[in-house]
Amino acid sequence: MVTRGPGNNPTVVVSAVVVSDDAFSATLVCRERPTPPQYPATLWALGRPPQHIAELHRLMRASDDGLVLTYRTRPAVALDCAEAPKVGDEGELIQWWTARVLELVTDPNPPLERIPSSALRCDFCEMCYKTLPDGPWAWKRASNEICDGCHRDFVRSDRLRLRGPS
Ligand SMILES: [Zn+2]
Repeated sequence: MVTRGPGNNPTVVVSAVVVSDDAFSATLVCRERPTPPQYPATLWALGRPPQHIAELHRLMRASDDGLVLTYRTRPAVALDCAEAPKVGDEGELIQWWTARVLELVTDPNPPLERIPSSALRCDFCEMCYKTLPDGPWAWKRASNEICDGCHRDFVRSDRLRLRGPS
């Protein structure tokens, strides 16, 4: 997810963090406007080696100029990093997916189609970037193809709660 993240990787500073029972919200100030869709994303500390600061799952608010973004993450479903960031943390905002791939989760129509792995055209899953095939079945919509595990976790279960009421 780090090296193949789509779009630009703007430098951002965390300006506010609110932690509640099952989620935290984090507000970031970006030096330049991140390319769409802007979420989900991981904030990475600059440096060697790069380090996770926080996963930022759902974009809740954006300022009119698009430079101030507030995200909501439920740590219980984090993939690699369940920590909340701290005010003043600085890093690069690395997005996980392209806008079209995010739509596989947020826009249910038309539904994805289950296909045998022998019919795949991509050589990697566009959500987790694992090499395909990964098991006998995969899922596709238009030119986008994802593995069965990502379909289960992100599309069917909406693990990150990216659709519906927040
Ligand atoms: Zn996958």
